[in-house]
Amino acid sequence: MAMNVAIDGPAGAGKSTIAKAIAKKMGYVYVDTGAMYRAMALYFLRVGISPDDEEKISSVVDNILVSIKYEDGAQHVILNGEDVTGMIRTEEVGNMASATSVYSPVRTKLVSLQQELAKTTDVIMDGRDIGTVVLPNADVKIFLTASVECRAKRRFDELVAKGETPDFDKIAKDIEERDYRDSHREISPLKQADDAILVDSSEMNIDQVVETIISYINK
Ligand code: C5P
Repeated sequence: MAMNVAIDGPAGAGKSTIAKAIAKKMGYVYVDTGAMYRAMALYFLRVGISPDDEEKISSVVDNILVSIKYEDGAQHVILNGEDVTGMIRTEEVGNMASATSVYSPVRTKLVSLQQELAKTTDVIMDGRDIGTVVLPNADVKIFLTASVECRAKRRFDELVAKGETPDFDKIAKDIEERDYRDSHREISPLKQADDAILVDSSEMNIDQVVETIISYINK
């Protein structure tokens, strides 16, 4: 039986950094499900579909093939044969992913891909609905969160480090909006699974969060 660890939580809580570090230490494969929603969102942006146009989005989902491959342990996202890993980390793509992940055909397609991956492989998978929908029988479920201010500050620092000149208030507002959308959508809203462990990283550094979660896995 493959070992499955689910990490859910809002945008900017540090899920991917933490999950990557744990995967490396424990020898698991890290699966970033947000990247899959982002790849689909990139497709919608490229073809110029409005995020409100559910009908159009549903009708093109069958033209989109998203897959995952690993190179030197790093996840690469492939969109219709093209490696788009380097193109999906923008705010524009993130906001489009949040707006279009509300639609059932988008979710159905990606959830089955995620479930296939977890069947045969020891995975640590991060997202919004992993513990509740994708892997309801995961061996360990973590709900990782942090305050809006703290998450906005982390994102702000990341962008400054990249040489950008971000607007803190805009970042905080985007995070709040995304939280609201992710947790109020009809299908698979972001919510802590009943059997998930809550970890608030606001006052913790990366190592502390990693060690805390590994101690739960080892239990
Ligand atoms: O985690 P990340 O910010 O990359 O995710 C982008 C968007 O994809 C999220 O705001 C969320 O709407 C959506 N998502 C989702 N379910 C997941 C992972 C991401 O709905 N399992």
